[in-house]
Amino acid sequence: MTIRHIAILGSTGSIGVNTLDVIRAHPDRFKVAALTAGKQIDRLAHQCAEFKPSIAVVADADGATRLKQILLDQKIDTQVLYGPQALVSAVTDSGCDTVMAAIVGAAGLVPTLAAAKAGKRVLLANKEALVMSGNLFMQAMKQGGGELLPIDSEHNAIFQCLPPQFSKTPNPSLGVEELWLTASGGPFRNTPLEQLGSITPDQACAHPNWVMGRKISVDSATMMNKGLEVIEAFWLFGLPLEKIKVLIHPQSVVHSMVRYRDGSVIAQLGQPDMRTPIAYGLAWPERIEAGVTQLNLTQLSALSFAEPDLAHFPCLSLAFAAAKAGGTAPTVLNAANEMAVAAFLNEGIPYLDISLVVEKTLNVMPVSDADSIEYILDIDMQARKVAHDIIKSIRS
Ligand code: NAD
Ligand code: MG
Repeated sequence: MTIRHIAILGSTGSIGVNTLDVIRAHPDRFKVAALTAGKQIDRLAHQCAEFKPSIAVVADADGATRLKQILLDQKIDTQVLYGPQALVSAVTDSGCDTVMAAIVGAAGLVPTLAAAKAGKRVLLANKEALVMSGNLFMQAMKQGGGELLPIDSEHNAIFQCLPPQFSKTPNPSLGVEELWLTASGGPFRNTPLEQLGSITPDQACAHPNWVMGRKISVDSATMMNKGLEVIEAFWLFGLPLEKIKVLIHPQSVVHSMVRYRDGSVIAQLGQPDMRTPIAYGLAWPERIEAGVTQLNLTQLSALSFAEPDLAHFPCLSLAFAAAKAGGTAPTVLNAANEMAVAAFLNEGIPYLDISLVVEKTLNVMPVSDADSIEYILDIDMQARKVAHDIIKSIRS
């Protein structure tokens, strides 16, 4: 058994904590090389004390000073760094062979790309990175020669349902016709449109089946999450957009499916627990204990599936449109959505204005080719400025 050395980008978040939970149960298999967090210093300090990484990274100098002091008091000799460039060091200088990319949003793009270029095994949770720069990211993975394992539960399911050779040669003789991404529909699937105006952040973050970070929870409520996932699937699996379908499946038991030419549909089922895809990615191609309760099909009353109602979920149609437009449109979609969700969570813009901000930003920003990472980061910044002004005008 080879021992894997893991760097976790975003170790204090929901995915990060679940990843450490799986790692904790397999000390003979996994060593932690680097841990990174934004601002949760105390939680990161606890993680460093337990897992003794060689590098720990936080967002800013103040946080780094605090973390250094805590670690010094406990005689833990983890090197403490801070800032965006240090996230890249956590990947390239920690001696890791595997990187869990679990920083939320565009902030995760540069270090995730560095992991791809450096030929690491990349466990990709940070879908925003792929939405922003899918083409360049997939090229970087190819150049680096590392393995890419999707952690997002739907994409992990599809990866499991595809023929093993598909990712290397997606040739037509393998008979893959369609990918069916399932979606729970979030907490407001049955809420009448006229009641959506008064939704609060806590209501939006109370997902019926999954426990997740606040940004992705809001994205699940608006179904922007599923839109981002369609774009993610497009880049990961290389099928045309028309072959990627979304199905509402409120029970979140079937995590996604692949339909084949001969009439077969292969599905992956499981509990809504991210430790399953995380364990799959960490140990692939082996399978390990993930700490997840067994699925008991006899306790389920029904599995149901339905087409999503696009009028109820305008963010989903905006994402479809951006995916179709291609180029920089998904980058703009993602940037505007991050700004709108943050404004909803922190500044109290109305829930229904999330889609409005995204739509208006997409209308202002022209679509162009996304051909370098510098250009993509520039478009991301421009889109954030446009979205910021739109949010300001809504608030006044
Ligand atoms: P979270 O908010 O719980 O955690 C985010 C992590 O990123 C934290 O460790 C935080 O400290 C760090 N971070 C945030 N901003 C940062 C910055 N500017 N610089 C450095 N670090 C920063 O989010 P999460 O739910 O764990 O999701 C992480 C990613 O995984 C997201 O891209 C999300 O879409 C994806 N994902 C999550 C789930 C889930 O079940 N939680 C499922 C599928 C995909
Ligand atoms: Mg998902």
